[in-house]
Amino acid sequence: MRRIFKLLVISILVLLVIIITRALLHTPETSSLQETVDYSLDEDLMLAHLSESIRFKTISHENSQGLNAGAFDNFQAWVSQTYSQLHQTLELKMFNGTMLYKWVGTDPTLKPILLTGHYDVVPIIPGTESLWQQPPFSGTIDDGFVWGRGALDDKSGVIGILEATSYLIAGGYQPKRTIYLSFGHDEEIGGAKGAGLVADYLEASEVQLAWSLDEGSFLLDGFLPGVDKLVATVNVAEKGSTTLQIVGKGAGGHSSMPPSQTAVGVLAEAITKLEENPMSGELDGLALAMFDTTSREMPFTLKILFANRWLFSGLIEAMLAKDPATNAMLRTTTAPTMLSASVKTNVLAIEAIATVNFRVHPRDTIGSIVDHVSAVVENNNVEVRPMAWDGFGLGQPASEVSSWESKGYQNIEQSVKNIYGNVIVAPGLMVAASDSRHYGRVADNAYRFNPFPLTRDQLAGFHGTNERIGTDDFVRGVKVYIRILELGSNQ
Ligand SMILES: [Zn+2]
Repeated sequence: MRRIFKLLVISILVLLVIIITRALLHTPETSSLQETVDYSLDEDLMLAHLSESIRFKTISHENSQGLNAGAFDNFQAWVSQTYSQLHQTLELKMFNGTMLYKWVGTDPTLKPILLTGHYDVVPIIPGTESLWQQPPFSGTIDDGFVWGRGALDDKSGVIGILEATSYLIAGGYQPKRTIYLSFGHDEEIGGAKGAGLVADYLEASEVQLAWSLDEGSFLLDGFLPGVDKLVATVNVAEKGSTTLQIVGKGAGGHSSMPPSQTAVGVLAEAITKLEENPMSGELDGLALAMFDTTSREMPFTLKILFANRWLFSGLIEAMLAKDPATNAMLRTTTAPTMLSASVKTNVLAIEAIATVNFRVHPRDTIGSIVDHVSAVVENNNVEVRPMAWDGFGLGQPASEVSSWESKGYQNIEQSVKNIYGNVIVAPGLMVAASDSRHYGRVADNAYRFNPFPLTRDQLAGFHGTNERIGTDDFVRGVKVYIRILELGSNQ
């Protein structure tokens, strides 16, 4: 008995030593430090340009009603005047309102690269104008920020790329690799008539890009538990989207003599089952690479978990699943969004319908989601109906997952570290959509990242109120774009 107890104590001690040693060794890779690079820019002028760009009401509406075509034309004219040297040096091709510039490189054997963003923005929700600290289309520069719709999504990306390219042209820079710049006019409504046509054109011209860089994640400030450094997540994939209707069926009739279970009751039960049985998700592939990199900077208690996934994977996954933001990285998400049933208070519904939106993780397909849902809600009185969605047929599958070991990724990583110094760069998964859904098919690797810091406070500005970007943050982001263009076009 005593011997068994002794053995047990020794085993526990050994286990503890292993767990703690692994956590102690779970440190950032030392090679991640890079030299600092800086450029001297006319910062006030760049900020004035961003401010001016916000004043064009280039709003994409869900239906083409209310489209202010003049604003788009004026924006294009403004770009060609404001960046006149760029406009004269590069070749321009228009795809409706989308501008594709080509800067021909000296070595035609190298695959080109593409930097892209969109200059259309979403509308201001009627009635919320007064909640803005500065009018949403004023482009006011105040309190260390440039304010207005598009300041983050994505005029700062477009103007940042234009400023960076102009800087290089003015300095006599010659790229080895051909550089394409694309500025989309309809990203917020799917990008089919802009980026979609640009991708068609590149495909028809047999242009295959080494990589593309589009809007995506930012340098996240204070998003990860216990991590003080900025975390630049370079998104290497984006989730897809599909929508299903779940239909509960009943006999209908007068509400004075209802059956024990109505169509609404059937539907409610089905939705509850769906919420209780999410698509499976685990910490693997891309999410694993991201958390492996970032957890090396976390407090010791969290390091113990992430350094010992062989023991704690269940615990880690349960922890990540609790937070909607990290849960979305692990799995295809299930979101019931719309409901309808009877049209009158005293009429029983024959069909009660829930619309459920799924954001497709790269490991799943639209088919595997339909199978999962059908199995979970299985009942003779429940029907699962696929829904056509925004011109993408039954939905949009997740994108391919681009490499985070490629030259292009390394160029982006190095550029961020050259400008920002000691920050974390990790691959990430985009949970929203971007124009890269189009560019992915003409690029070996498609990356999605805006080189600007972002706090949780600013997050509410995306498609919301008080969208703003820090003036210093914008300037540093332009420098990252310059560095990306230099490294990307020369290596
Ligand atoms: Zn955007």
